[in-house]
Amino acid sequence: MSQTTIALVTGANKGIGYEIAAGLGALGWSVGVGARNDARREAAVEKLRAAGVDAFGVPLDVTDDTSVAAAARLVEKRAGGLDVLVNNAGVTGGVPQEPTTVNLAAVRTAVETNVIGVIRVTNAMLPLLRRSTSPRIVNMSSGVGSLARQSGSTDELATGPLAVAYAPSKTFLNAVTVQYAKELRDTNILINVACPGFVATDLNGFRGVRTPEQGAAIAVRLATLPDDGPTGGFFEDAGVVPW
Ligand code: NDP
Repeated sequence: MSQTTIALVTGANKGIGYEIAAGLGALGWSVGVGARNDARREAAVEKLRAAGVDAFGVPLDVTDDTSVAAAARLVEKRAGGLDVLVNNAGVTGGVPQEPTTVNLAAVRTAVETNVIGVIRVTNAMLPLLRRSTSPRIVNMSSGVGSLARQSGSTDELATGPLAVAYAPSKTFLNAVTVQYAKELRDTNILINVACPGFVATDLNGFRGVRTPEQGAAIAVRLATLPDDGPTGGFFEDAGVVPW
């Protein structure tokens, strides 16, 4: 494996994912821009390269087995391995819906991308990550996935009405991350959950109050943890998020 640190960011063509790629690239890392749309991916790669980042495109739809397997082969061929995986790609599942009237397709869509997609990509990339001397996995969740916050009376971080598709899909992702941390506890892999805060992106019609760069900072921090850093935790800029 080369001396250069290799990262892959899913959903890196725009929003927070793009800024995570830019932030990791600014460290001198080689960054795979995972994105499902060819034109959007190549535009992001070009923009990152123009900013001096050693970026390469990785065609990747996290909901598709064949696409994810091909992405793992591409990363191995292009970079020889992988040190850091940032599972950033996410969807809301549409407008917030209440449990009693929800269209089940919304729940399926959110879980398929935000949970099963993360498991699919992580498991495909793990053989590469296991070869790294300092492997890190960052799962982009949300404060709205916090059960403590969902059940509280107020939540200043909520990105909209707490609804039955998006928020619980992030709760599910948080639980899955804890399970990975348990299984991988005797390895050198650190896996953590990040909350970016309420960020102005397509995801929320640009209603967020933070910039994508600000939202990316916690993921960059968790991607660059020292070897004795935490694993199985949930973090935002201000510190630990309650489960
Ligand atoms: P954006 O909508 O701007 O970006 C989402 C990214 O995910 C896009 O690149 C999108 O690609 C990609 N994506 C969606 N589905 C897939 C798929 N099946 N395969 C590959 N890529 C996919 O949103 P944000 O930047 O805001 O969101 C990034 C992450 O941060 C998400 O996980 C989100 O839940 C989380 N988050 C965001 C918050 C916010 O306030 N914005 C708050 C808390 C968490 P495409 O362009 O092709 O659609």
